[in-house]
Amino acid sequence: KERRSVLGENLLTIVTIIGVVGGTIFGLILKKSDQKWTQRDIMYIQYPGDLFLRMLKCLIVPLLVSSITSAIGALDLSLSKRIALRSIIYYFTTTICAVILGILLVTVFKPGKGYQTEVQNDAKVTRDVLTADTLLDLVRNLFPPNIIQATMFQYRTQLEPPENATARVGNGTEIKISDLSPDVRNHFTISKYNLTYFNSTEVVPLTEFKIKGEWREGMNVLGLVMFSVVLGATIGKMRERGKPIQDFLVSLSEAMMIITRWVIWLSPIGVFFLITAKILEMDSLADVIGKLGKYFITVMFGLFVHGFGTIAVIFYITVRKLPYGFVFKMSQVLATAFGTGSSSATMPITINCLDNMGIDPRVTRFVVPVGATINMDGTALYEAVAALFIAQLRNIQLTFGHIVAVSVTATAASIGAAGIPQAGLITMVMVLDTVGLPAEDVTIIIAVDWLLDRFRTTINVMCDALGTILVDHLSKGELSATNARLESGEPHE
Ligand code: ASP
Repeated sequence: KERRSVLGENLLTIVTIIGVVGGTIFGLILKKSDQKWTQRDIMYIQYPGDLFLRMLKCLIVPLLVSSITSAIGALDLSLSKRIALRSIIYYFTTTICAVILGILLVTVFKPGKGYQTEVQNDAKVTRDVLTADTLLDLVRNLFPPNIIQATMFQYRTQLEPPENATARVGNGTEIKISDLSPDVRNHFTISKYNLTYFNSTEVVPLTEFKIKGEWREGMNVLGLVMFSVVLGATIGKMRERGKPIQDFLVSLSEAMMIITRWVIWLSPIGVFFLITAKILEMDSLADVIGKLGKYFITVMFGLFVHGFGTIAVIFYITVRKLPYGFVFKMSQVLATAFGTGSSSATMPITINCLDNMGIDPRVTRFVVPVGATINMDGTALYEAVAALFIAQLRNIQLTFGHIVAVSVTATAASIGAAGIPQAGLITMVMVLDTVGLPAEDVTIIIAVDWLLDRFRTTINVMCDALGTILVDHLSKGELSATNARLESGEPHE
């Protein structure tokens, strides 16, 4: 039976990769045809992909909460702390390496030099949210005031709401967002189902809003992770009295993994249609490649060197093995990350893959969800390259202080970016600010961002998965000691 499932998994991986390649080719063929593709056509083409994405997203909250909580609940507190510390050291080291690599490459290749006269930007994006606000948001999100609400959204967009955005407030009247007082307008978060105005002290919910134009949905994953960590640690401490919740969460997490395995079978179809639709929706790459080509190649080269060079070195130093064999086994995960452009949506599949590789579930269930939220090496590298590329385009002379500021904010921006498509583009505004660039300059790189997003998400997810293997390797001895102790009936520390 096991052999059959290994065969099945391999077959699925191959078909998913065919889905990625086939979706790309099919999208290009449709785009080349004389037909004019309307938004409605694209929506229909994307429909099967959307269903797949929705199923994956639906698993995130129950899987995240049950798996982190039960993983920590099953460990000694001191071991949990050590696993958390190792993961955090890994996240930071790799993110910083990615940023430094990005800065080096952009300084050496100078992709933005020589275009100064061509840059013209009429886009209107007002920047009302200060960098400090974004950083405060990051910490604020760690402490959700309402855990149910945290599962629905928490996304502060830094782009001004579209002119025609409307919201229906509690008493049923429809208002134009642009009619709201600037104070309200500048502090709002949007999701498809909720629009909430908040500042640090109060939350005023507006219900049933309708946004015509761009909106983003997400969830406060950081807040959920924090809550689950604290709950897990408490359950572990409660020993026998915590057992009923622990047992419940272990079963829930198992059930979610079984559903995940069913949903994974849809991934080839899902990624095929998601990619086809995305290609149809986007401007032809050939049109934008002129000015952005060098930038595009710099980011791609950086992602490649980081993913297959830097990480391999770090992995080799700690695990004494090269990671490529593991990367190969992760092909299914990487194809899904590329197809969905979302670390969070890929998370259930990443966990399943690491389980199949025999990584301790207690490590996987902590390192993957937290990593999917805060460890985004690809995003960090891209943030640094993009900000400095724009500075070069604008012919801005950067001091060493600027460069240091860019590395710090690019790291923060990657931590703050949600694991959803193109979230990095939004947090980029904060990095631009450190070099004195206006927010509207993000529009310069928008044309190629969707594609870069796919690649950086793939690297983000790969680094999380390799980090999990690394932390598992470092914690092996302690994990088996804990197992032996638990088996002999000794309680938690
Ligand atoms: N899409 C990326 C992710 O989910 C985030 C980003 O860089 O925009 O990992």
